[in-house]
Amino acid sequence: MCKICETKPVYEFTNKRRVCKNCFIRWFQKKVLYTIKKFSMIKRADVIGYVSGECFRDEVLEDVLKYYDNKAPIEIIKLKRSHSNIPIIPKSVDKLAISNNLDVVGEKVIITLLDNKISNLKLKPVEDKIIRPLYLFLDKELLLYAKLKKLKFKVFKKNKNKLSSFIDDLEKKHPEIKRAIVNSYLKLV
Ligand SMILES: [Zn+2]
Repeated sequence: MCKICETKPVYEFTNKRRVCKNCFIRWFQKKVLYTIKKFSMIKRADVIGYVSGECFRDEVLEDVLKYYDNKAPIEIIKLKRSHSNIPIIPKSVDKLAISNNLDVVGEKVIITLLDNKISNLKLKPVEDKIIRPLYLFLDKELLLYAKLKKLKFKVFKKNKNKLSSFIDDLEKKHPEIKRAIVNSYLKLV
């Protein structure tokens, strides 16, 4: 049961706390505000570009940027996706928001660590003009948010190689491992 509303839970955190739909959405949106503030991602009157996409992470990013736009004096602009992963940032745009979250960053950190190239990683919450408002969320939290908010998205099959299966396996045994790895990475850089 959701402790606050005494209604059916839709999510359970690692510490066993359960939340209902409304409490989950509120928790999610508050955490976005917290992330943007904690890492000083956005200033007053900033023009924030973001890339349109079909992946659930991009859909959630768009939704939370619109949510933030209603609360703060900023401007958001949808940019066209280019062939490379990170698009060219137009001059009129102050920051480019991208949808990298804990799962994406955690996995890239592990792969790079195993490759011994950690200093080449550009995966901090803020890198020059790039901001990552979903930095502290897991995929399962983004997916649930997208479903609860009835966002339209396509589910892409993950390219499963040996290494990503190994990481998924680790995550099952140690549910907080990606969060721990990303926290260690932040201390390292
Ligand atoms: Zn509730």
